[in-house]
Amino acid sequence: MSNPENASHPTDSSVVVLLRCDEYDPARVAETVSRGISMLGGIRQFATPEDRILLKPNLLVGKRPERAVTTHPVVFEAVARCFQEAGATVTYGDSPGFGRIETIARRAGIGAVADALDIPLADFRTGKTVSFPEGHAIKQFEIAVGALEADGIVSLSKLKTHALTRMTGAVKNLFGCIPGMLKGEFHGRLTDVERFSAMLVDLNRLLRPRLHIMDGIVAMEGNGPHNGRPRALRSLLFSTDPVALDAVMCRLVHLEPTLMATEVWGERLGMGRHTRITVIGDAVESLACSEFDVNRKTDFSVHMVHPLISRLMKNYVTPRPVLCAERCIRCGNCVKICPVTPKALDFQDSGETEPPRYNYKQCIRCYCCQEMCPEGAIEVETPLLGRIARRLPL
Ligand code: SF4
Ligand code: SF4
Repeated sequence: MSNPENASHPTDSSVVVLLRCDEYDPARVAETVSRGISMLGGIRQFATPEDRILLKPNLLVGKRPERAVTTHPVVFEAVARCFQEAGATVTYGDSPGFGRIETIARRAGIGAVADALDIPLADFRTGKTVSFPEGHAIKQFEIAVGALEADGIVSLSKLKTHALTRMTGAVKNLFGCIPGMLKGEFHGRLTDVERFSAMLVDLNRLLRPRLHIMDGIVAMEGNGPHNGRPRALRSLLFSTDPVALDAVMCRLVHLEPTLMATEVWGERLGMGRHTRITVIGDAVESLACSEFDVNRKTDFSVHMVHPLISRLMKNYVTPRPVLCAERCIRCGNCVKICPVTPKALDFQDSGETEPPRYNYKQCIRCYCCQEMCPEGAIEVETPLLGRIARRLPL
């Protein structure tokens, strides 16, 4: 990756703007967002006064901004103002795992900003079937009407860890354009991270946001994307190429980009590049954090071997969700979100007086339960054999 500030770049490379921003100070963030967009050619590249622009923040659950689960409202505000000043009509939307988007947006601080700037919520409850014959993993999507009605999408992702995909960034942020519980069906149909990631890339190829901006001022490490620890990375990232943007995100946290299947599929399917990237602005090395807690181990794809070995590997090698009974409040979110039938974790005969229990034979390791637990009571652990296998020089 090269790093010339405002330098011309090879035409066969993708440009990512990386800018240092130390805190969520509104004036500082507004200046940095404005500079980042200018370095990509200016707001006119991304909107005209006639355009309806959808802002797609990460609104996974309703947590306070300082928990670093959701896109920070100060970043949302800075981007919204840029597009409004360009004359565009701005809406926003996301489809969370559980709950009403209005409540979640309010808790995350974005609802108040949207009210103040008169930005309505787009319809993310209703879906419309869109055929995508060139899709690799999926040839037909159900997409939120609010995303389809926009002339252009601006994705506002949050830099966080993720149990299934290691990190969630620009490419994965569009998964929220699929309404409500329909998202679970994708986990049920695409039961390995490879096919699931190819689907995410297909979704990006279909919706093609005009601009991707990532909030990494305070990121999330560890047990993400919901219950990890905030970690200051002091970074805002901008690109029209979500694959390149995620590659720079990986470099910031010392993760080899090709360990993320979305990166591999993103380049293979022509969505973007994880190689040949020109970074402009601040140097990756000046903001990178080698201590960032993310899974950097090579995992074994259980789907590339004989079914019998695959079964054994799933039971004894592949990381599994583990429930901590002391932290469980028996809310049942994990049971509701589990996409397999019969459920791979359930209250069984306890009548919800005891925490749910796993049936690991049934579990497809999608980690949706870990993602949606409000108490951080579920963590992903690698069995002993898996930990040993990761040390082998393969
Ligand atoms: S989501 Fe978490 S707190 Fe709720 S029942 Fe499951 S493990 Fe317990
Ligand atoms: S138990 Fe958890 S990881 Fe297993 S299939 Fe259900 S939601 Fe996915």
